[in-house]
Amino acid sequence: MSDLRELYQQVILDHNRQPRNFRKLEGANRTAEGHNPLCGDQITLYLRLENGVIGDVSFQGSGCAISKASASLMTASVKGKTQTEAEALFHTFHTMVAGEPDPAFDPEQLGKLAAFSGVREFPVRVKCATLPWHTLRAALEGRGKRISTE
Ligand code: ZN
Repeated sequence: MSDLRELYQQVILDHNRQPRNFRKLEGANRTAEGHNPLCGDQITLYLRLENGVIGDVSFQGSGCAISKASASLMTASVKGKTQTEAEALFHTFHTMVAGEPDPAFDPEQLGKLAAFSGVREFPVRVKCATLPWHTLRAALEGRGKRISTE
């Protein structure tokens, strides 16, 4: 288990140091802003939705390592997925970090996103990890503008 923890930590550190899809997206047709006042995390999400498929997605912003790594891994995970698939992934991710503990749940099914499975032990960090996902959902639903975890 400690090996796994170390691996997860490395994934988060790596994505914090070199966030994927960290840029403004030219040709985005959806954007949303997310804010986590508890920690000061700020994210702008850019999305190009084409016939219900996430053709491209990127983000900019500033925040703690967890929020930045989560945004990086989130964008990498949902690119090329349909809106429905992305929603389902959000649900699974949210269950992993904040849902009722389920012994049958295997974080491995989430691939690298499983790196955030330890976050559930730190309630303050849950909002950092889920902020990019809430922002994604706002962008997908076209609610746009600005969401806050508070
Ligand atoms: Zn944070």
